[in-house]
Amino acid sequence: MKVQTLAVLTALALLTPPMASCDEDHRAPPRWPTGTAGGRKVLFIGIDGLATYTLRQGASPNLDALADAGAYAYDATAGDITISGPGWSSLLTSTWRDRHGVTGNDFVGNTLGATPDVFTLLHQAAPEALSASLVMWPPINELIARGAEMRFSYDHVCPLTYDRCEFLTHTRDLLEDRSPDLLFLAWNDVDAAGHAYGWASERYYTALAKVDREIGRVLEQVRARPSYADEEWLIVVSADHGGSGHGHGDNSVPHRLIPVFISGPGIASGPIVPAPQQVDLAPTILYWLLGDLDPKWDFDGRVIVLDTDDLSDEVARYRRPELPRPRFGTNLVFNGTADVDRGLRGEIDLALRGWNEIGAMTAVPVSILPSDDPNVAETAPSPGAPFENAFVFGATGVSTMYQRIELPALDGVRSYRLSARATAGHSPSCVGPRLTIRFEDGLTQEVAFAEALPAKPMTCNSYTFVPIVAEGVLPSKTTVAFLELNLDRDPDARGFIDDISLVLQAAP
Ligand SMILES: [Zn+2]
Repeated sequence: MKVQTLAVLTALALLTPPMASCDEDHRAPPRWPTGTAGGRKVLFIGIDGLATYTLRQGASPNLDALADAGAYAYDATAGDITISGPGWSSLLTSTWRDRHGVTGNDFVGNTLGATPDVFTLLHQAAPEALSASLVMWPPINELIARGAEMRFSYDHVCPLTYDRCEFLTHTRDLLEDRSPDLLFLAWNDVDAAGHAYGWASERYYTALAKVDREIGRVLEQVRARPSYADEEWLIVVSADHGGSGHGHGDNSVPHRLIPVFISGPGIASGPIVPAPQQVDLAPTILYWLLGDLDPKWDFDGRVIVLDTDDLSDEVARYRRPELPRPRFGTNLVFNGTADVDRGLRGEIDLALRGWNEIGAMTAVPVSILPSDDPNVAETAPSPGAPFENAFVFGATGVSTMYQRIELPALDGVRSYRLSARATAGHSPSCVGPRLTIRFEDGLTQEVAFAEALPAKPMTCNSYTFVPIVAEGVLPSKTTVAFLELNLDRDPDARGFIDDISLVLQAAP
């Protein structure tokens, strides 16, 4: 959120916090719902403005420990408008902004009534569940987390004195005396320090260290619950957006990349690949708590990290996305048709699963291409592809998108074939998109490089798809392929590409 709004916002607790923070008696009064001790539970930790590149700097030992203890991603993505309103909305509803309609912190034009929050859906499926949302930015509770049974909003960050911080004493009381099944906590310190003093400034790291200490206290309280031994807590950490300089809001890497850490009983440790997205957290939380998802729910995200074997067939579309296994003779590119996700809607740059994006690059429905070009009808969309997308490049300035493909099990690789179909599209200089590949050994030393070239010249200002291909022989020490799409030679160009494939063959 923007720090300026802090001063004018008043405390807007939707349920007035029922005790004064300085009273000796911090026990919650009986009118708080109690919940059930034992069973599966979720603590969802949200940190406003936490930029990925500022982690692992020593200021956040508790967060670092959560990353080490479970599944982690430092390259998870927020949506293209990197501010709090759309960010928290996507995190809590599993829809992108073309559906929740939140494009700013004024929430003007939002359609959140049609995109229920994770708390509402939890109570639909499990009416006895107890949920709580404690946030330092009141609009979350007023407009997004409306289904949380207990909502407490605070218009300020915690003072350094623990017992004077209602946000923390209420959390402690909830964890001591009540048994929330889904507890959402959202801190503001980091974002406020970023706006006032700069992201990655000394004061930013001071704020991060403070939030980290407070998270440590909360984690201690979770573990101190008398019923903790009978409980399975999933601890989820993420952010609404990143930041740089003194702000955020851009469709840029430092603003879009956010952390996602998920730890808990049975959660394997290690990186989450392909990188998750904000919309993946609500389905993952609900699946952990409920053991299945309701077919009526309509998420943009997927279940990540958790074993999805128990997901019923009606909701198989939410199964955890899996990378292609390294093996000979199959396409090793994840989401090379751009069809795994919905593409561009209007002017909305939805994150593409599996691809790291730098700059304006996304996928669009092939149907937007001129239908009077017979080659488009003939060659696009991808056969059997559900969403009929193609990658589009060069909407503004430099556009790059890349994918790192691990090839650890493929000793003795001898040949590769990289292929796709591309058009020059609208291009003043008739330059089509470039598809390049760099093969590396385990030490990130380049061992081979190639560019896929058109099988015949691309026609200027045409949407005819031309095959592009690169073939070659690889040194056997290759362990990683770094695949890159870009259109950086002409900032006004629009090019399209689809059906990207990398196939390796063993020596005969
Ligand atoms: Zn902010």
